[in-house]
Amino acid sequence: SSEPIFQRVALIGLGLIAGSMSLAMREGGLAAHVMGYARSPETRDTAREIGLVDEVAETAAEAVKGADLIVLAVPVGAMGDVAAEIAPHLSPGAILTDVGSVKQSVIDVVAPHVPECVHFIPGHPLAGTEHSGPRSGFATLFRNRWWLLTPLPDSDPDAVERLSALVRAMGANVDTMEAPHHDRVLAVTSHVPHLIAYTMVGVADHLSRVTESEVIRYSAAGFRDFTRIAASDPTMWRDVFLHNKEATLDILGRFAEELFVLQRAIRMGDGEHLHRYFTGTRAIRRGII
Ligand code: NAD
Repeated sequence: SSEPIFQRVALIGLGLIAGSMSLAMREGGLAAHVMGYARSPETRDTAREIGLVDEVAETAAEAVKGADLIVLAVPVGAMGDVAAEIAPHLSPGAILTDVGSVKQSVIDVVAPHVPECVHFIPGHPLAGTEHSGPRSGFATLFRNRWWLLTPLPDSDPDAVERLSALVRAMGANVDTMEAPHHDRVLAVTSHVPHLIAYTMVGVADHLSRVTESEVIRYSAAGFRDFTRIAASDPTMWRDVFLHNKEATLDILGRFAEELFVLQRAIRMGDGEHLHRYFTGTRAIRRGII
């Protein structure tokens, strides 16, 4: 294990992402002390019981006291309230980051609360599973995954570098980009695919009650593979769509257009069109590991 990069890390929210961060940081000796806080007493008890963090605080204020890194790992819709709650208790020189799946809306609600003496560097690890909660984390979640940072124009480069060092030490690759660009890219690569997966399960359910139907029993590779992500946390995903509204609606509109073209090709028996389209998409998909 290496020298700690941070002395005192405060994780607000103790779900999949925060839990995985804690395990990765403790395994790698990247933080001298990891504090955790979650709003629900059950989550705090579970975190204590399984030793997810070094110490569980009873309030967010207590968790961030003296911390040189604070990570907001709550659903996107809760970021503003949490930021307001901790703001008066942050230490000068501390780095504040978040792991929210949407970036511009988090900046809009968090930045106004951040004191001048604190470095706010928004971020998003492109890593996850369909599991959630304090028991779902694992130390290798971020290995060989991207972790996007969306620093503000006045972000301190040294602070960005220090946070990047932590991210790299957890096994991830860092890239920086502007928040609006992040939100458009993620609408295509993550947000709309989740919406479509949720919709497909909904369609199957409307055809026959999913739990007792043939959809489950005969769940073929297509439905099973494609809808795995529809088991993801409903609160998290509600917030993603409410807070990445424009990009989601834009990409969804384009998706619907493409779908109608394919629908028409099927209706017209245009096998040539379907074959050409699938040949193109197969080549693209095979280029993604
Ligand atoms: P999770 O559901 O596993 O955990 C969320 C945690 O936040 C829980 O411990 C919950 O008790 C706590 N919480 C909720 N509201 C709170 C509040 N107001 N104050 C304090 N704690 C509160 O979720 P997760 O998957 O770890 O997601 C956390 C964040 O990371 C979200 O913003 C999400 O968009 C983002 N993210 C998720 C994934 C993924 O695939 N799951 C990937 C990248 C980023």
